[in-house]
Amino acid sequence: MAGKRWVPETLFDELGFRMTYEVDRVLHETRTEHQHLVLFEHRFFGKILMLDGATQVTSRDEFVYHEMMTHVPLFAHGRAKEVLIVGGGDCGIAEEVLRHKSIERVTQVEIDASVVEFAKQHFPEFTGPVLADKRFELVIDDGMNYVAATKRRFDVIIVDSTDPLGPGEVLFSEAFYEGCRRCMKRGAVMVTQNGVPVFQANELTTADGYCYVAAIPTYVGGHMAMGWATDETRLRRVSAKTIAARYRKAGSFATRYWTPEVHVAAFALPRFIADKVAKAIKPRALAPSGGTLSSSPGRVRRQRTRSPRRS
Ligand code: SAM
Repeated sequence: MAGKRWVPETLFDELGFRMTYEVDRVLHETRTEHQHLVLFEHRFFGKILMLDGATQVTSRDEFVYHEMMTHVPLFAHGRAKEVLIVGGGDCGIAEEVLRHKSIERVTQVEIDASVVEFAKQHFPEFTGPVLADKRFELVIDDGMNYVAATKRRFDVIIVDSTDPLGPGEVLFSEAFYEGCRRCMKRGAVMVTQNGVPVFQANELTTADGYCYVAAIPTYVGGHMAMGWATDETRLRRVSAKTIAARYRKAGSFATRYWTPEVHVAAFALPRFIADKVAKAIKPRALAPSGGTLSSSPGRVRRQRTRSPRRS
């Protein structure tokens, strides 16, 4: 072990807990305009990207997070055309979204151009297909500015952000959620990375809505929570049969974690997480399509207009 560098994840230092990786080779290390970035090779996890001491993506387990952050909202919605990704630097999320041929436009708003530049060099498996796809548009901006100002409206918003420190902090703010609410179409869905409830319960309590879970080995701490907000309450109760039919219609592309059954099961929350979500809900002024947020998780009571039955 002598001489080998070990890179710690310092995200949970306050809790007196660190996960540390033994480095085979540092591929890139720099301080960007916004954050500290290090990419290194690890003999088990492959390439590992860390920003400000937090694991962002590894070659070994990226598929879990990327598939669950994309296919769950897209197949639950069932008719999405316009998708907004906030953050998403490495383009792993965009790559999964673009596998849905029915999507017409994907806009990624990333604050740090150098993360995308460096992903072109080190994560061509993501950036290659994405940057070659005419439906993809990259905007370098703070997600907060974009959702506060854009005239565009979206069917699905995916917030693939860093944790609530440094540039990512504003993406867990009231103002940001209000901004997202403003640019959601009627029946739209918004999903957010909400950390691991065992260590990051506060990330859950600040979000408005419900959540679903998945286990990502390098997002240490058991379940990872993905925030879920929509004015269409039934979207998180779509049956596995309906999801399977939509998946077949989308060409049944290969996945390694997401399945229609895993999709439905992800909304069955362990009690300690469900309790945190229930506590997190605060009445809010206005939701997409002019309703109010009721006290039950993930639900927005909307002025009743019957929306057409979905296939
Ligand atoms: N999957 C990873 C996770 O769960 O920790 C996140 C991956 S992605 C690399 C996170 C991206 O969010 C980074 O590229 C970072 O630059 C970007 N980001 C952070 N704050 C942002 C902001 N305010 N607006 C837009 N992008 C932001």
